[in-house]
Amino acid sequence: RAREQGGGRQSWFDPAMHAHVVEQVRMEHDLRGALQGGTDLWVAYQPIVEMVTGGLAGFEALVRWNHPERGNIPPGVFIPIAESTGLVVTLGTWVLREACKQIAAWQDQREPGSAPLFMSVNLSTRQLSDPNLVDVVRDVLRETGVEPSWLKLELTESAVMDKAEQSIRLLQDLRTLGIKLSIDDFGTGYSSLSYLHKLPIDSLKVDRSFVSAMHQSEENRAIVRIIMDLARLLGFDVIAEGIETSADANLLRALACDYGQGYHFARPLAPEAAGKLVGGDLPWRPLD
Ligand code: C2E
Ligand code: MG
Ligand code: MG
Ligand code: MG
Repeated sequence: RAREQGGGRQSWFDPAMHAHVVEQVRMEHDLRGALQGGTDLWVAYQPIVEMVTGGLAGFEALVRWNHPERGNIPPGVFIPIAESTGLVVTLGTWVLREACKQIAAWQDQREPGSAPLFMSVNLSTRQLSDPNLVDVVRDVLRETGVEPSWLKLELTESAVMDKAEQSIRLLQDLRTLGIKLSIDDFGTGYSSLSYLHKLPIDSLKVDRSFVSAMHQSEENRAIVRIIMDLARLLGFDVIAEGIETSADANLLRALACDYGQGYHFARPLAPEAAGKLVGGDLPWRPLD
């Protein structure tokens, strides 16, 4: 009998899967440690540019993990682990606080009277179902002295559409704080058009895949144009992500895209490097 059980166990004991689980548990453990303090976790800031003038409009906060033994682990790898373990709620609050402290400090360096910069922060699906979310955002704004209108939260289509009715109420509560809301990676999820017009949001971010496909064919350009038209019809701003060439930028400008973000302008930057741009020293030429 014992042998039989042993054999049975062997059939589901897959070494590759075992290694994967051990890896996930280890990463979760290390991430939990990194969240306790220290400098392994940090936030990069990628400029967002006003397409018409080429001026700096704001930044997107993007979390970075510099693991002591493994070096940089991309968010595409550790965010899903943080998401499945619930750690993403703690991580997300930490990023929000860091980003708010940073934008408050930068706003102080701006010429009085110049248009305020905005700070975009990504929210995970799990954070959307955290009953404390609205209180947390309110507290962080108060604590850091950030004007609500400077803060923009990015949510993915699938996170919002998942529980559409519930999400609409939550988004309304968030918006009542005075912050802005944006749908990230627009076009890659399953958006129901009948809900899109009900969403209390301010902008759509056109996914990078559409932007990079634009120069390939007229059909791809038409998709981007249709997303722009839809956004305008519904009263949303449009931000294009993944702008890598001046050809991309020119096409988007011709389509009257409001804001752009991508390696053509700047990569996600360490806080010190991003701070230099706040002073007005832009690495891209206006209208480039
Ligand atoms: P996202 O929110 O869509 O962020 C944009 C991603 O595109 C970033 O990748 C950015 O570095 C990259 N990117 C920007 N411009 C270009 C370009 O011109 N070309 C190319 N090829 N890529 C460009 P990153 O930093 O690796 O982040 C990946 C994803 O991880 C983010 O996608 C977001 O979904 C998630 N993420 C990052 N930080 C956070 C965070 O603090 N909280 C949560 N919940 N998710 C985060
Ligand atoms: Mg984003
Ligand atoms: Mg995005
Ligand atoms: Mg994306």
